Amino acid sequence: MLTWPIHLILMVFLFALGAVVGSFLNVCIYRIPWQKSVIWPGSHCPKCWQAIAPQDNIPIVSWLALRGECRQCGTPIAFRYPFVEMLVGLLFLGVYVVDVLYEKQIPWGALPLKYPLEVVYHLTLIALLVAATFIDYDLWIIPDEITVTGMVIGLGLGTVFPDIRPEPSMATTHAGGFWIGLTGLLVGGGITWGVRLLGSLLFRKEAMGFGDVTLMAMIGVFLGWQAAVMTFFLGAFVGLGHALWKLVKLAGKKIRRVQVHTVDHELPYGPYLSMAAGILLFSWRWLWAGWAKDYFGQLKMVFWFLLGQ
Ligand SMILES: [Zn+2]
Repeated sequence: MLTWPIHLILMVFLFALGAVVGSFLNVCIYRIPWQKSVIWPGSHCPKCWQAIAPQDNIPIVSWLALRGECRQCGTPIAFRYPFVEMLVGLLFLGVYVVDVLYEKQIPWGALPLKYPLEVVYHLTLIALLVAATFIDYDLWIIPDEITVTGMVIGLGLGTVFPDIRPEPSMATTHAGGFWIGLTGLLVGGGITWGVRLLGSLLFRKEAMGFGDVTLMAMIGVFLGWQAAVMTFFLGAFVGLGHALWKLVKLAGKKIRRVQVHTVDHELPYGPYLSMAAGILLFSWRWLWAGWAKDYFGQLKMVFWFLLGQ
């Protein structure tokens, strides 16, 4: 059985791994929208073009040591870089707590595949969601490099390891794992596409980008169609707070007769969908067994009743 010292070592390792992945995601967030390579050239200061030395490129630590400035020219380095590294570190740690630590009695025999794979599966989704969130927040786009890559990874892992997904999306055969992933893709992408179409018919403008459709398809592949449906509604709920705040500011601008811009009455949906997917990823174990299972059961009954069965 896993003992406390081992848990502690693994937790420190996962936080460090998260910080390193976060550091790589910073590069992805900055370069992928411009179709630049994420591998070459290495990181450099945007002002003086000085290459960043390995000892100045340690996640979180280097930013603190340099007090947020380039060693060469003193240009401020945005707090966002260590923030993303810290965030991904904490999220990775969270996955360990939920997927491994909570399962108090893991026999060593179960370790070689099932649990590490489940953890890697969730870490991958988190990395993709973080990249999508910050790119969408900055530029209002979610590149296919993130979402389509994610769909391929999710479908692949779900097919090769059919029991990697949480209940009720676990499968026993490779074909089953593939179909569950594909169903998640179609339902997640489908409802978003449907609402997007409805929005453009009703309001005669684009309510959501196509990036939101592919993002939801990716979430469906990873977590199953039930979680995708819940992500969509939870995302709206999470975004509502920010939307209301924007409305207050917009009203303020109108009263003061200040020029109103597009950004004043629009909101990228991707970050909220990603946050909702993250919340569900961490709480699904309890949410499904305690509440969602019955809820979806009732929906199924209504569905069959309407079909006259
Ligand atoms: Zn510099």
